[in-house]
Amino acid sequence: MDYKNILTTCVYCGTGCGLNLQVLDGRIVGVLPAAEHPLSQGRLCVKGWNAASFVYSPDRLTVPLIRRDGRLVEATWDEALTLVAQKLLRIRDESGPHALGVLTSAKCTNEENYLLQKLARAVLKTNNVDHCARLCHAPTVAGLAAAFGSGAMTNSIPEFESDTACFLIIGSNTSEAHPLIASRILKARERGARLIVIDPRETQMARLADLYLAQRPGSDVAVLNGLMQVIMEEELWDKEYVAGRTEGFDAMKAVVSGYTPERVEQLSGVPADMLRQAARMYATHKPAAIIYTMGITQHTTGTDNVKSCANLAMLTGNVGVPGGGVNPLRGQNNVQGACDVGALPNVYTGYQAVTLPAVREKFEHAWGVTGLDPHVGLTVTEMIAAAGEGKIRALYIMAENPLVSDPDLNHARQCLNDVEFLVVQDIFLTETAQLADVVLPGASFVEKDGTFTGTDRRIQRVRQAIPPLGQSKPDWQIICELARKMGALDGASGGASGGASGGVSGGVSGFDFASPAEVMDEIAAVTPIYGGVHYDRLDRLGFLQWPCPTAEHSGTPYLHKERFSRGMGLFHPVEYIAPAEMADDEYPFVLTTGRSMFHWHTGSMTRRSTRLDQEVPTAYVEMHPQDAARIGLDGNRWVRIRSRRGEIQVAVRLTRRIRPGVVFMPFHFAETAANVLTHAALDPIAKIPEFKVCAVQVEAVSTEECHE
Ligand code: SF4
Repeated sequence: MDYKNILTTCVYCGTGCGLNLQVLDGRIVGVLPAAEHPLSQGRLCVKGWNAASFVYSPDRLTVPLIRRDGRLVEATWDEALTLVAQKLLRIRDESGPHALGVLTSAKCTNEENYLLQKLARAVLKTNNVDHCARLCHAPTVAGLAAAFGSGAMTNSIPEFESDTACFLIIGSNTSEAHPLIASRILKARERGARLIVIDPRETQMARLADLYLAQRPGSDVAVLNGLMQVIMEEELWDKEYVAGRTEGFDAMKAVVSGYTPERVEQLSGVPADMLRQAARMYATHKPAAIIYTMGITQHTTGTDNVKSCANLAMLTGNVGVPGGGVNPLRGQNNVQGACDVGALPNVYTGYQAVTLPAVREKFEHAWGVTGLDPHVGLTVTEMIAAAGEGKIRALYIMAENPLVSDPDLNHARQCLNDVEFLVVQDIFLTETAQLADVVLPGASFVEKDGTFTGTDRRIQRVRQAIPPLGQSKPDWQIICELARKMGALDGASGGASGGASGGVSGGVSGFDFASPAEVMDEIAAVTPIYGGVHYDRLDRLGFLQWPCPTAEHSGTPYLHKERFSRGMGLFHPVEYIAPAEMADDEYPFVLTTGRSMFHWHTGSMTRRSTRLDQEVPTAYVEMHPQDAARIGLDGNRWVRIRSRRGEIQVAVRLTRRIRPGVVFMPFHFAETAANVLTHAALDPIAKIPEFKVCAVQVEAVSTEECHE
């Protein structure tokens, strides 16, 4: 049979594995690992093997929908796009650009994210642009940029296997969330690399570790300061590195000195002796790599946690060397790329600040517009709240599902119910799309060209294997057509074909792209760190890691060699601050949330994959047997969990891998959404909600009462 193999990049986690889509007679019939791929090396995890299994789901959106008389009914593309263009321009003209909000997507390509933030900024004239990086790694961008001058993973995945002598994993369930990175770490263990895991749950990696430190949720700064206190006390720090490459040491030392192991034990529950052993192991095995994910970022102290990781790495001279560094593992396929290409409210592409006049001038010139918004826009959570307050009148949401991913979901639902005009562009009628006034059917990753940027700044191709299903279109085409409806090509006032009123003043141009390759050429032209990224090079070389400033540059495997991006690395004095909501007499348990190996994000794709969904078809809560006895579970399998914001009923899994007093839920399940319970207290810098800690009551529910 005449199969075609189309090489592309996995749509799930940020590892960026390569896979071949097998195509027969215009249909995808299988997925195979890419044998020579530098990351996946001929392997895939269970999600990767099933990466295309949602594509032919009967739930796929294949025609545009418009809400009429309260119901979503089929419409033509012209009707749908004209309505969207008219409404957005009218609201902009009546209430100003700040009455509009745009959510881009870490699921979509770099080119699509670039185009949507360009439409928001150049056409709608608002910086209210954000995406779900806000809910996972905004503290990484803020914290690492403050410490090092670049908010990205410092090193490369292959270095873990070849170079790293000690891994310190904190707040990362690596084997479930990033299985192929976990397997690299385990291979390094075979050659003697050490492994320290710090996590409130005894994950699989914790069980395989040399040292496992189980801290109370939210006590990460105390533990990290404690490690540094021991390292300084025992003279294990790298004095030459600190003197030659860093600044701010004395202020950091003054704070950290107070975190003796005994005090840290009181704050975190980690035994003082274990802390000392971990400090010695990390400091004496070089290069040492810190690896983390949302376990430390989804806190009101998320940015502080990241800065503390940066402090620890600099103190021991582990930044700017192969196999070392501070390595945030990105959970979504293109969350790194969406940030890189400007899908954030404070920066254009390549982290160029919207508040700098010279930068605005550059983009006004490049885009042929005037009057770009000089103010930082609203974040995801701020936009949703502003919609509830009537300050945002219209939201345009591309491939995001805030009605599962946002905290305090009852409040988020109320806000989205209240917004005057909601547009959702997606491949499925998600929980959020069900509330929309207009639904635009996008194409999945197998139906379009583009690029994703993986967690280690690796830009790789996404390749079209089949045509878009039904009338659906690649998101980049939808955005360009919408921009043209708004008059963004002819630049004339009132120039929207199809009847959109208002049009764009100032002669906007630049939505007339024939392919994503042309979009990438424009990204390269305005983005110094992507300056040498073009499709012909990606196709020839396989990948490029930014910074890649010129067409002659071969990319950068690890950052901060010899000098930091900001010059000197900056230590930050960081004090421990307790979580915003602690367990108390009324709500005596701490709820923490996370991922399952078989699901991804809000489950919109994995739960439509039969093979993945059958592995874990429903939500559950993990609870220690001591706690089960404490609440009188008494053989029942269900509990009611209640927080100050809502309640759910959910099945219990008893396990000793979680601390007594703490319960854990995966966040992928819309019908039993953990985020009904979480709250929206924000990190003051990164504005990420504290998903990882909230106080709850847990009570047993008899089998007769439960909704199984
Ligand atoms: Fe896809 Fe991540 Fe699995 Fe690789 S590890 S196959 S990128 S989900």
